[in-house]
Amino acid sequence: ESAGPTIAAGEILVEIMATDRGMGFLEPQALIGPYPSGAPAIFIDQVARLGGGAGIIGCVGRDDFGTINLERLRRDGVDVSAVAVSDRYPTGSAFVRYRPDGGRDFVYNIAESAAGRISLTEEARRLADGAGHLHVMGSALSISGLKEIIAYAARAVRARGGSTSFDPNVRKELIDGADGAQFSRLVDDADLLLPSGDELLAAAGVDDEGQAVKALIARGVGEIVLKRGAAGSTRFGADGSRIDCAGFLVEEVDPTGAGDCFGATYLTCRRKGMEPAKALFYANAAGARNVTRRGPMEGIAGFDVLDAFIAGTARAA
Ligand code: ATP
Ligand code: MG
Repeated sequence: ESAGPTIAAGEILVEIMATDRGMGFLEPQALIGPYPSGAPAIFIDQVARLGGGAGIIGCVGRDDFGTINLERLRRDGVDVSAVAVSDRYPTGSAFVRYRPDGGRDFVYNIAESAAGRISLTEEARRLADGAGHLHVMGSALSISGLKEIIAYAARAVRARGGSTSFDPNVRKELIDGADGAQFSRLVDDADLLLPSGDELLAAAGVDDEGQAVKALIARGVGEIVLKRGAAGSTRFGADGSRIDCAGFLVEEVDPTGAGDCFGATYLTCRRKGMEPAKALFYANAAGARNVTRRGPMEGIAGFDVLDAFIAGTARAA
């Protein structure tokens, strides 16, 4: 495992959420926010909170929404030297409302916001040149400038003997901007793949979990960690091994960000040399604790808080 920080690239957003459940945003309603957000930002903030080196390539506007993001990332120890500040475009945003059935509807402003203006700047190159791991978020693939950044960063990280991970989360609202060939390449190249639910089947193009795992390992994926929401998670190794981890029993207040916290925790524990079973256990704890707080980054926790959470929380049988 190569030294150097874990880096991510993509959307840095504020999230503003409806305070009650319902269908979308078709009438006036109570909202709460802004909360710092964006899948790559949530992920990298969790890496930093666990004491892992962390940096992000992104772009915010010169506005309060940008400031709350930069302040949070900086406070938690993320290198934000490669976050550009746009004078022209406002910081990206996501409005979210939870449906009665637990589903979610989003209104995104990403492509035409500062978040959509990311490019391979001098600072981005510098961050990538020193990195030991690159994490790619499927949600970021609809940003046009990201392709060049990922290509450059993946090459730089590989050249230093580093590794990559890929979370194939592509929201239904953003799927049109995605590029199928790029998506497949990211899957093939991933040392660690972090799908949730049916994303595993979609990534493999088959409809059986066991076959999907076999197919992806055959394509060169190093390990697969499948997120199962309240039911916990499963880790599949390239050697055919399987570890299941039951979910912690918590009251879900806000599910957004759980997958990002989970993935960041698994990766950071592995980069610190932890065995897969222990890393998976911590990742389950990080995901579960995150859903107990409103706001995607408000439940992010370091090892001290996670240890206390683990000691005080039961798990499903
Ligand atoms: P998102 O994309 O919204 O961030 P995700 O779909 O990628 O999330 P989930 O499976 O929802 O990922 O959550 C990741 C992990 O967090 C789960 O594998 C589990 O360990 C934990 N987790 C999530 N929701 C709950 C819950 N309600 N109760 C307990 N643990 C949970
Ligand atoms: Mg996800």
